[in-house]
Amino acid sequence: METMLLDENKLDIAVELIKRGEVIGIPTETVYGLGADASDENAVRKIFQAKGRPADNPLIVHLADFAEAEKYTESIPDIAWRLSEKFMPGALTIVLPKNNRIPLITSGGLDTVGIRVPAHPIMQRLIELSGKPISAPSANKSGYPSPTTAQHVMRDMSGIIPAIIDGGECQYGVESTVISIENGDTIRILRPGFITPEMLGTVSDNVIVDKAVLAGLETGEKASSPGMKYKHYSPSADIVIIESDLEKFTEYVGGHYGEGVYSLIFDDDTEKFPYRYMSYGKDSQEQAKQIFRRLRELDDCQAVRVYVRSPEKSGIGLAVYNRLIRSAGFEVIRL
Ligand code: AMP
Ligand code: MG
Repeated sequence: METMLLDENKLDIAVELIKRGEVIGIPTETVYGLGADASDENAVRKIFQAKGRPADNPLIVHLADFAEAEKYTESIPDIAWRLSEKFMPGALTIVLPKNNRIPLITSGGLDTVGIRVPAHPIMQRLIELSGKPISAPSANKSGYPSPTTAQHVMRDMSGIIPAIIDGGECQYGVESTVISIENGDTIRILRPGFITPEMLGTVSDNVIVDKAVLAGLETGEKASSPGMKYKHYSPSADIVIIESDLEKFTEYVGGHYGEGVYSLIFDDDTEKFPYRYMSYGKDSQEQAKQIFRRLRELDDCQAVRVYVRSPEKSGIGLAVYNRLIRSAGFEVIRL
Protein backbone atom coordinates (compact mmCIF):
# COMPACT_ATOMS: atom_id res chain seq x y z
CA MET A 1 0.00 0.00 0.00
CA GLU A 2 1.32 3.46 -0.89
CA THR A 3 0.64 6.07 1.80
CA MET A 4 -0.73 9.36 0.41
CA LEU A 5 0.27 12.67 1.97
CA LEU A 6 -2.83 14.88 1.80
CA ASP A 7 -3.01 18.63 2.36
CA GLU A 8 -6.02 20.16 4.04
CA ASN A 9 -7.73 20.86 0.70
CA LYS A 10 -8.05 17.10 0.25
CA LEU A 11 -10.16 16.50 3.35
CA ASP A 12 -12.89 14.94 1.18
CA ILE A 13 -10.56 11.99 0.50
CA ALA A 14 -9.82 11.66 4.22
CA VAL A 15 -13.54 11.77 5.08
CA GLU A 16 -14.25 8.99 2.55
CA LEU A 17 -11.50 6.82 4.02
CA ILE A 18 -12.88 7.26 7.56
CA LYS A 19 -16.41 6.42 6.38
CA ARG A 20 -15.06 3.28 4.67
CA GLY A 21 -13.49 2.06 7.94
CA GLU A 22 -9.88 2.93 7.09
CA VAL A 23 -7.20 4.34 9.39
CA ILE A 24 -5.46 7.65 8.58
CA GLY A 25 -2.88 9.96 10.13
CA ILE A 26 -4.48 13.19 11.43
CA PRO A 27 -2.93 16.36 12.90
CA THR A 28 -4.25 17.56 16.26
CA GLU A 29 -3.09 20.37 18.56
CA THR A 30 -1.37 17.80 20.84
CA VAL A 31 0.37 15.17 18.62
CA TYR A 32 -0.56 13.40 15.35
CA GLY A 33 -3.25 10.77 15.80
CA LEU A 34 -4.01 7.51 14.04
CA GLY A 35 -7.71 8.01 13.44
CA ALA A 36 -10.59 5.68 12.58
CA ASP A 37 -14.32 5.33 13.28
CA ALA A 38 -14.47 4.54 17.03
CA SER A 39 -17.82 2.76 16.65
CA ASP A 40 -16.57 0.35 13.95
CA GLU A 41 -14.82 -2.70 15.46
CA ASN A 42 -12.99 -3.59 12.26
CA ALA A 43 -11.68 -0.06 11.80
CA VAL A 44 -10.50 0.05 15.42
CA ARG A 45 -8.79 -3.34 15.06
CA LYS A 46 -6.75 -1.83 12.21
CA ILE A 47 -5.49 0.91 14.55
CA PHE A 48 -4.21 -1.66 17.06
CA GLN A 49 -2.55 -3.61 14.23
CA ALA A 50 -0.91 -0.57 12.64
CA LYS A 51 0.58 0.55 15.97
CA GLY A 52 1.35 -2.89 17.36
CA ARG A 53 -0.57 -1.68 20.43
CA PRO A 54 -1.45 -4.06 23.29
CA ALA A 55 -5.19 -4.85 23.15
CA ASP A 56 -5.81 -3.72 26.74
CA ASN A 57 -4.51 -0.17 26.13
CA PRO A 58 -7.71 1.87 25.50
CA LEU A 59 -8.21 4.45 22.75
CA ILE A 60 -9.47 7.99 23.37
CA VAL A 61 -12.64 8.92 21.46
CA HIS A 62 -12.70 12.35 19.81
CA LEU A 63 -15.98 14.24 19.37
CA ALA A 64 -16.80 17.60 17.77
CA ASP A 65 -18.64 18.87 20.86
CA PHE A 66 -18.79 17.63 24.45
CA ALA A 67 -22.60 17.48 24.31
CA GLU A 68 -22.15 14.55 21.87
CA ALA A 69 -20.68 12.55 24.78
CA GLU A 70 -24.26 11.87 25.90
CA LYS A 71 -24.61 9.51 22.93
CA TYR A 72 -21.68 7.35 23.99
CA THR A 73 -21.71 7.38 27.82
CA GLU A 74 -23.96 6.13 30.63
CA SER A 75 -23.81 9.30 32.67
CA ILE A 76 -21.93 12.59 32.83
CA PRO A 77 -21.27 14.14 36.25
CA ASP A 78 -21.81 17.91 36.71
CA ILE A 79 -18.13 18.54 37.15
CA ALA A 80 -17.44 17.08 33.69
CA TRP A 81 -19.80 19.66 32.17
CA ARG A 82 -18.03 22.45 34.08
CA LEU A 83 -14.65 21.19 32.90
CA SER A 84 -15.90 21.03 29.32
CA GLU A 85 -17.08 24.65 29.46
CA LYS A 86 -13.69 25.78 30.63
CA PHE A 87 -11.26 23.57 28.71
CA MET A 88 -13.02 22.24 25.59
CA PRO A 89 -12.29 22.18 22.79
CA GLY A 90 -8.74 21.50 23.96
CA ALA A 91 -6.16 19.11 25.34
CA LEU A 92 -8.30 17.49 28.05
CA THR A 93 -9.59 13.88 28.05
CA ILE A 94 -12.25 12.87 30.60
CA VAL A 95 -12.77 9.17 31.39
CA LEU A 96 -16.52 8.40 31.71
CA PRO A 97 -18.68 5.23 31.95
CA LYS A 98 -19.27 4.11 28.34
CA ASN A 99 -22.42 2.70 26.75
CA ASN A 100 -22.58 -0.02 24.10
CA ARG A 101 -22.19 2.37 21.16
CA ILE A 102 -18.47 2.23 22.01
CA PRO A 103 -17.26 -1.33 21.35
CA LEU A 104 -15.07 -3.03 23.98
CA ILE A 105 -12.18 -3.23 21.54
CA THR A 106 -12.07 0.61 21.54
CA SER A 107 -12.00 0.83 25.34
CA GLY A 108 -9.44 -1.96 25.72
CA GLY A 109 -12.07 -4.09 27.47
CA LEU A 110 -12.88 -1.42 30.10
CA ASP A 111 -16.40 -0.19 30.88
CA THR A 112 -15.17 3.41 30.62
CA VAL A 113 -14.13 5.58 27.70
CA GLY A 114 -11.87 8.64 27.48
CA ILE A 115 -13.61 11.52 25.68
CA ARG A 116 -11.80 14.48 24.11
CA VAL A 117 -12.96 17.41 21.99
CA PRO A 118 -9.94 18.44 19.89
CA ALA A 119 -9.40 22.10 18.99
CA HIS A 120 -7.46 21.51 15.76
CA PRO A 121 -9.60 22.72 12.82
CA ILE A 122 -8.64 19.76 10.58
CA MET A 123 -9.61 17.17 13.21
CA GLN A 124 -12.78 19.15 14.00
CA ARG A 125 -13.84 19.21 10.34
CA LEU A 126 -13.03 15.53 9.87
CA ILE A 127 -15.31 14.56 12.77
CA GLU A 128 -18.09 16.83 11.55
CA LEU A 129 -17.91 15.83 7.87
CA SER A 130 -17.64 12.09 8.56
CA GLY A 131 -20.33 12.21 11.25
CA LYS A 132 -18.28 9.64 13.23
CA PRO A 133 -16.69 9.56 16.67
CA ILE A 134 -12.99 9.17 15.93
CA SER A 135 -10.56 7.05 17.95
CA ALA A 136 -7.10 8.48 17.60
CA PRO A 137 -4.15 7.26 19.64
CA SER A 138 -0.79 8.84 18.87
CA ALA A 139 0.31 7.84 15.35
CA ASN A 140 3.62 6.21 16.34
CA LYS A 141 4.59 2.55 16.50
CA SER A 142 3.73 1.38 20.02
CA GLY A 143 6.55 2.21 22.44
CA TYR A 144 8.21 4.84 20.19
CA PRO A 145 8.06 8.65 20.75
CA SER A 146 4.82 10.29 19.58
CA PRO A 147 4.84 12.07 16.20
CA THR A 148 4.55 15.86 16.01
CA THR A 149 4.90 16.24 12.22
CA ALA A 150 3.39 14.40 9.23
CA GLN A 151 6.92 13.27 8.32
CA HIS A 152 7.25 11.50 11.69
CA VAL A 153 3.99 9.67 10.97
CA MET A 154 5.25 8.78 7.49
CA ARG A 155 8.38 7.27 9.02
CA ASP A 156 6.37 4.98 11.32
CA MET A 157 3.33 4.26 9.12
CA SER A 158 4.47 4.40 5.48
CA GLY A 159 2.98 1.44 3.59
CA ILE A 160 0.76 0.56 6.57
CA ILE A 161 -2.03 3.18 6.31
CA PRO A 162 -3.56 4.71 3.15
CA ALA A 163 -3.16 8.41 3.99
CA ILE A 164 -1.76 11.09 6.30
CA ILE A 165 -3.09 14.65 6.42
CA ASP A 166 -0.24 17.15 6.68
CA GLY A 167 -1.22 19.94 9.06
CA GLY A 168 2.34 21.08 9.84
CA GLU A 169 3.94 20.87 13.28
CA CYS A 170 1.64 20.27 16.27
CA GLN A 171 1.07 23.29 18.51
CA TYR A 172 1.61 21.57 21.90
CA GLY A 173 3.76 18.50 21.20
CA VAL A 174 2.59 16.28 24.09
CA GLU A 175 -0.64 14.31 24.39
CA SER A 176 -3.77 15.46 26.22
CA THR A 177 -4.22 15.55 30.00
CA VAL A 178 -6.22 12.43 30.92
CA ILE A 179 -8.40 12.60 34.05
CA SER A 180 -10.99 10.48 35.81
CA ILE A 181 -13.62 11.71 38.28
CA GLU A 182 -14.15 10.15 41.71
CA ASN A 183 -16.82 10.72 44.38
CA GLY A 184 -18.59 13.51 42.53
CA ASP A 185 -15.92 16.17 42.30
CA THR A 186 -12.45 14.71 42.86
CA ILE A 187 -10.28 14.93 39.75
CA ARG A 188 -7.56 12.30 39.37
CA ILE A 189 -4.85 13.09 36.81
CA LEU A 190 -3.90 9.86 35.03
CA ARG A 191 -1.66 11.51 32.46
CA PRO A 192 -0.44 15.14 32.72
CA GLY A 193 -0.58 17.51 29.73
CA PHE A 194 -1.12 21.15 28.82
CA ILE A 195 -4.17 21.39 31.08
CA THR A 196 -2.16 21.55 34.32
CA PRO A 197 -3.10 20.51 37.89
CA GLU A 198 -3.21 24.24 38.71
CA MET A 199 -5.75 24.88 35.91
CA LEU A 200 -7.91 21.94 37.00
CA GLY A 201 -7.75 23.36 40.52
CA THR A 202 -9.86 26.30 39.35
CA VAL A 203 -12.78 23.86 38.86
CA SER A 204 -12.32 21.53 41.86
CA ASP A 205 -10.61 21.85 45.24
CA ASN A 206 -9.76 18.15 45.04
CA VAL A 207 -7.19 17.42 42.35
CA ILE A 208 -5.03 14.31 42.81
CA VAL A 209 -2.00 13.57 40.66
CA ASP A 210 -1.95 9.76 40.37
CA LYS A 211 1.23 8.32 41.87
CA ALA A 212 2.10 6.62 38.56
CA VAL A 213 2.47 10.02 36.86
CA LEU A 214 5.84 10.58 38.55
CA ALA A 215 7.07 7.03 39.18
CA GLY A 216 6.91 3.49 37.89
CA LEU A 217 4.34 1.01 39.16
CA GLU A 218 5.53 -1.50 41.76
CA THR A 219 5.57 -5.12 40.58
CA GLY A 220 2.02 -6.46 40.73
CA GLU A 221 0.49 -3.00 41.39
CA LYS A 222 -2.75 -2.30 39.47
CA ALA A 223 -2.65 0.65 37.04
CA SER A 224 -5.48 3.23 37.25
CA SER A 225 -4.89 3.73 33.54
CA PRO A 226 -3.62 0.87 31.36
CA GLY A 227 -1.14 3.06 29.45
CA MET A 228 0.86 3.45 32.69
CA LYS A 229 2.02 -0.16 32.50
CA TYR A 230 3.84 0.00 29.24
CA LYS A 231 7.28 1.11 28.19
CA HIS A 232 6.61 4.25 26.25
CA TYR A 233 8.06 7.10 24.22
CA SER A 234 11.39 5.26 23.89
CA PRO A 235 13.92 5.83 21.15
CA SER A 236 16.65 3.22 20.57
CA ALA A 237 19.12 5.27 22.61
CA ASP A 238 19.35 4.76 26.35
CA ILE A 239 17.83 7.80 28.08
CA VAL A 240 18.98 8.87 31.56
CA ILE A 241 17.47 11.85 33.40
CA ILE A 242 19.73 13.87 35.65
CA GLU A 243 18.25 16.09 38.34
CA SER A 244 20.92 18.64 39.22
CA ASP A 245 22.26 22.09 38.39
CA LEU A 246 24.20 22.64 35.17
CA GLU A 247 27.59 22.51 36.86
CA LYS A 248 27.06 19.05 38.37
CA PHE A 249 25.39 17.85 35.16
CA THR A 250 28.42 18.91 33.10
CA GLU A 251 30.81 17.23 35.53
CA TYR A 252 28.78 14.00 35.42
CA VAL A 253 28.63 13.91 31.62
CA GLY A 254 32.40 14.55 31.48
CA GLY A 255 32.99 11.50 33.67
CA HIS A 256 30.79 9.29 31.48
CA TYR A 257 31.68 10.62 28.05
CA GLY A 258 32.44 8.57 24.96
CA GLU A 259 31.28 7.61 21.49
CA GLY A 260 27.51 7.93 21.00
CA VAL A 261 27.03 9.90 24.22
CA TYR A 262 24.76 12.94 23.82
CA SER A 263 23.19 15.37 26.24
CA LEU A 264 19.76 16.95 25.97
CA ILE A 265 20.03 20.34 27.65
CA PHE A 266 18.15 23.65 27.86
CA ASP A 267 18.74 26.43 25.31
CA ASP A 268 20.27 28.62 28.01
CA ASP A 269 22.85 25.93 28.89
CA THR A 270 24.43 25.68 25.46
CA GLU A 271 27.08 28.41 25.68
CA LYS A 272 28.84 26.85 28.66
CA PHE A 273 28.43 23.20 27.70
CA PRO A 274 31.57 21.55 26.24
CA TYR A 275 30.15 18.17 25.13
CA ARG A 276 27.98 16.85 22.26
CA TYR A 277 24.40 18.00 22.79
CA MET A 278 20.98 18.85 21.48
CA SER A 279 18.84 21.44 23.25
CA TYR A 280 15.11 21.32 23.85
CA GLY A 281 13.87 24.82 24.54
CA LYS A 282 14.12 27.34 27.34
CA ASP A 283 10.87 26.81 29.25
CA SER A 284 8.37 24.01 29.87
CA GLN A 285 6.12 25.02 26.98
CA GLU A 286 9.00 24.84 24.47
CA GLN A 287 10.26 21.61 26.03
CA ALA A 288 6.84 20.03 25.54
CA LYS A 289 6.77 21.08 21.91
CA GLN A 290 10.26 19.76 21.17
CA ILE A 291 10.75 16.69 23.35
CA PHE A 292 9.42 13.96 21.02
CA ARG A 293 11.08 15.52 17.97
CA ARG A 294 14.43 15.56 19.76
CA LEU A 295 14.11 11.93 20.90
CA ARG A 296 13.57 10.94 17.27
CA GLU A 297 16.47 13.13 16.08
CA LEU A 298 18.79 11.52 18.64
CA ASP A 299 18.05 8.17 17.00
CA ASP A 300 18.82 9.69 13.60
CA CYS A 301 22.26 10.65 15.01
CA GLN A 302 22.79 7.09 16.26
CA ALA A 303 23.01 8.30 19.85
CA VAL A 304 23.67 5.38 22.20
CA ARG A 305 23.22 7.06 25.58
CA VAL A 306 21.57 10.42 26.28
CA TYR A 307 21.82 12.41 29.52
CA VAL A 308 18.85 14.73 29.89
CA ARG A 309 18.58 17.87 32.03
CA SER A 310 15.45 17.24 34.08
CA PRO A 311 12.42 19.47 33.39
CA GLU A 312 10.41 21.09 36.21
CA LYS A 313 7.83 18.84 37.86
CA SER A 314 5.12 21.50 37.99
CA GLY A 315 2.82 23.13 35.44
CA ILE A 316 3.42 21.93 31.88
CA GLY A 317 6.82 20.63 33.03
CA LEU A 318 4.99 17.80 34.79
CA ALA A 319 3.84 16.52 31.37
CA VAL A 320 7.38 16.68 29.97
CA TYR A 321 8.83 14.94 33.05
CA ASN A 322 6.14 12.21 32.84
CA ARG A 323 7.03 11.42 29.21
CA LEU A 324 10.78 11.54 29.87
CA ILE A 325 10.84 9.20 32.88
CA ARG A 326 8.98 6.64 30.76
CA SER A 327 11.37 7.03 27.85
CA ALA A 328 14.17 6.59 30.40
CA GLY A 329 12.59 3.42 31.83
CA PHE A 330 12.50 5.39 35.15
CA GLU A 331 16.28 5.80 35.26
CA VAL A 332 16.77 9.07 37.16
CA ILE A 333 20.03 10.20 38.77
CA ARG A 334 19.86 12.87 41.47
CA LEU A 335 23.10 14.78 42.08
P1 AMP B 1 -2.80 7.55 23.42
O1 AMP B 1 -3.94 6.93 22.72
O2 AMP B 1 -1.50 7.07 22.89
O3 AMP B 1 -2.92 9.04 23.53
O4 AMP B 1 -2.92 7.00 24.91
C1 AMP B 1 -4.16 7.12 25.56
C2 AMP B 1 -3.99 6.81 27.02
O5 AMP B 1 -5.13 7.34 27.73
C3 AMP B 1 -3.98 5.32 27.32
O6 AMP B 1 -2.71 4.78 27.29
C4 AMP B 1 -4.58 5.26 28.72
O7 AMP B 1 -3.55 5.28 29.67
C5 AMP B 1 -5.44 6.51 28.82
N1 AMP B 1 -6.86 6.11 28.74
C6 AMP B 1 -7.65 6.09 27.64
N2 AMP B 1 -8.88 5.62 27.94
C7 AMP B 1 -8.88 5.34 29.26
C8 AMP B 1 -9.83 4.81 30.16
N3 AMP B 1 -11.05 4.46 29.75
N4 AMP B 1 -9.47 4.65 31.46
C9 AMP B 1 -8.23 4.99 31.87
N5 AMP B 1 -7.28 5.49 31.06
C10 AMP B 1 -7.57 5.67 29.76
MG1 MG C 1 0.57 7.14 22.60
